[in-house]
Formats: sequence, structure tokens, C-alpha cells
Amino acid sequence: MPDTVPRRLVGALLAGDLPAADGARGPDPDTGGEAEVAAAMQRRARVSGLVIGLVAVIVFPAWSLLDFYLEPALASTFLLVRLLADVPMVGVLWLLWRSDLGRRRPELLTLVILAFVQLSVCWMVALVDNTESYAAGLLLAIYGVGGILAAPVRWSVALVTLTWTGLAGAVLLAPRGIPHVDVVAVVFWLATATVVATVTHAVRHTLGHSELTTRVNLLRERERTRLLLDRLERLSLEDPLTGLANRRRWDVELDVACAEAGASGQPVAVVVIDIDHFKQVNDRHGHAGGDAALREVARLLIRRVRSGDLVARLGGDELAVLMPGSDADRAVELAEALRVAVSGLVPPGFDPGELTLSLGVAAGSGPTPTELMHRADERLYAAKATRNAVGTPLPRPRAPHEVADAPR
Ligand code: GH3
Ligand code: MG
Repeated sequence: MPDTVPRRLVGALLAGDLPAADGARGPDPDTGGEAEVAAAMQRRARVSGLVIGLVAVIVFPAWSLLDFYLEPALASTFLLVRLLADVPMVGVLWLLWRSDLGRRRPELLTLVILAFVQLSVCWMVALVDNTESYAAGLLLAIYGVGGILAAPVRWSVALVTLTWTGLAGAVLLAPRGIPHVDVVAVVFWLATATVVATVTHAVRHTLGHSELTTRVNLLRERERTRLLLDRLERLSLEDPLTGLANRRRWDVELDVACAEAGASGQPVAVVVIDIDHFKQVNDRHGHAGGDAALREVARLLIRRVRSGDLVARLGGDELAVLMPGSDADRAVELAEALRVAVSGLVPPGFDPGELTLSLGVAAGSGPTPTELMHRADERLYAAKATRNAVGTPLPRPRAPHEVADAPR
């Protein structure tokens, strides 16, 4: 069934106009739920006001048919009055539908529309012979507000007060007077309508408020759980000291990068990094000093790599960079740049050149993760022979005398 305007109005009336349950962001868990409940109540008030107002602007002039049947002598005048009253009613309905005022004060605008109806009917009551038939019309707006308007009960009370006042004016000012028996009957009807409508309104409003509160709290809980799960997931993949990716995330991303490289034929490279003499760093600067140095190195690495690269702490003082799409040349270039940059890093309390790295580079198009890491580890091990060095897969450029001496 298509999502027509009437269906949406009825849906909003029954369910409230809260964010959709699935996929949509729920209410902010850090703000008070009361504000969200109030906003949802306000939206309901506007939708219900639109329904009441729409019915009023259609039905009020349509009652001319009744005028021509019951009071033919007055019917033409009444038709004119009904149409004249309908003009501002349609205007206020439009305000309710489109304007900011309609979003802020929907109950007030609904009351204004119904005030035109009630006061016009009271005026007619003063003129007609069929007093009871016309006064019966007053009950409809009161029941409508009591049963439909999703707003605090004071708005029902306001309409009831207005209607009683208008009716009193009609009784007092009726040019030919109103028979006593008719006045008594109308007072009984109106009193009954007043009680029934305000009680209905009070019960419905209380139930609606508690239902909305429950829904808002549910959405808040769901949002809180989602944030918690996001945080847990982040923590499970992050090294707490440096904020870099941890070993678990590294293993997953390395698997993916190697699989993609195998499938696409694109290269993938890794640079495995170990801080030189880190035990001595700890001995000299204490564990906290060592931690601070680790964090500085991590920050430097993050600044130097490209956006698609991943920097991880594999454990202890061992770090690594995963470079999807990069070949050995680029990886060696990055490793050398990192080596030079860290050798120039002087954290507070450190001597120049105290922090250095040894790095091992490996690259390929179809290696398994184990092969790639194994080759990089071997080259890191080779670099440890001198330290502050890059173990590279590229052939070392040879000096002219080496080429001449080389066996053929
Ligand atoms: P090498 O040049 O051969 O790498 O010498 P090294 O002293 O760095 O030796 P190795 O890499 O084997 O030692 C790593 C040291 O890192 C051992 C441990 O004391 C220290 N370490 C491991 N994790 C942490 C940490 O979280 N914080 C600090 N401050 N030190 C750590
Ligand atoms: Mg080390």
C-alpha cells in the first residue's frame, strides 16, 4: 500500500514522530530524555491538530446543508458566515502545516481554528428555532479535542471554557430568547461532553507520555550500547600506549593486503622496525621515559606514512608499516626516511642520536603474509649488524672496482 499522506498522518498519530527504529541514529544518550519526549509530544500535537483543523475547514461549510433543511430562512446568511469563517481557518491551518509557529505552538493554532467554529455556532444558536440541533454541534469540537489532540489537558479546558462562554452569550443575547427547556437540555449535554472529553484527554495524554518516555529510553539505551560496542571494537584493535594498530589488527590487515595483491597483481610492502638498544633507553630514562620515546616514534611514523598505509605496534619496541600498492623502491625510500628522521629525534632529556631504528623491508605481488614477514624479519636482523640501518631487498649499488673484480 503506498505511503499516502493520510496513512502517514494516522501512523504519526498512533506511533509518535520519533526517529525510525532501524539504522537511524537514536537520541543523543548524553542529553536528558525529557527534552526528546517533549519534542515528540510537540510533533504529535501538530499532526493531531492538522487532522482536527482539516476536518473543521471541510465540515463547517458543509453543514450549510443542515441549515437549508432546518432553518431555510437563515441558511443563506449562515452559508456566507460559514464561508467567511473558513477563510481565516484555512489560513491558520496553513500556518499549522507550514510555519515555525505551527511547529512551536500547534495546540494554540488548533484552538484558534476551533474558536472560529464554536463562536460561529454560538451566534447561530442565538438566532435559530432549532436550538438543540445547533447546540449539539458544539459538542463535536469538544469531543474532537478531548479524543484526538495530543496536547496537555489545559487545551481541552480552554476550548470548553470558550464554548461555555460563547453559549452563555448566545443565551443572554438571543434576540427572541431561548426556551428554558432548551437551555437546560443544552447545559446537560455540554456538561457531559466537558467531563467525558477532559477525562479522555487526561488519560490519553498520560498514556501517550509514558509510552513516548519508554520509546525514548529504549532508543537511548540502544545508542549507548552502540557507542560502547564501537569503543570496545576500537580498543580491541588499538595499542593502548601508542594508539597505533595492535598486533590483532595488523594480522587481519596484512592478510587482506596480501590477498588483494595476489588477486590484482599489485605490489604490497612491509617495513618492520625495531628500536635500537631500547633496554638501555629504559635503563637510562626509566620505563616512563621509554614509553614517552615509543610514543614519539609512533607519532613520527604516523606523520610520515601515506594515508593508505597502516602503522602498527607488533609488541615491545617492534613496530611495522604495511604499504598496500607500494613496491620495494617506495618501501625502501620510506624506511630510509624514517631511519633518518628518528635519528634526528631528541625527546626531552635524551641526547642527540640516542634513539635510532633498525628496519627490514620486504615487498612482492603474491607473497603469503608469513613469507613477507619472514623476509622483512631477516632483513631487520641483517640491519641489526650495524643498527641505525635499513635491511633492503634491493641489490646494493656496487662500486666500479667491485664490478671489475666480480667473477664473470
Ligand atoms: P636491540 O637493538 O637489539 O633491539 O636491543 P634492545 O635493547 O632494543 O633489545 P630488544 O629489542 O630485544 O628489547 C626490547 C626492550 O623493550 C625490552 C623491554 O625492556 C622494552 N620494552 C618492551 N615493551 C616496552 C614498553 O611497553 N615500554 C617500555 N618502556 N619498554 C618496553
Ligand atoms: Mg630493540
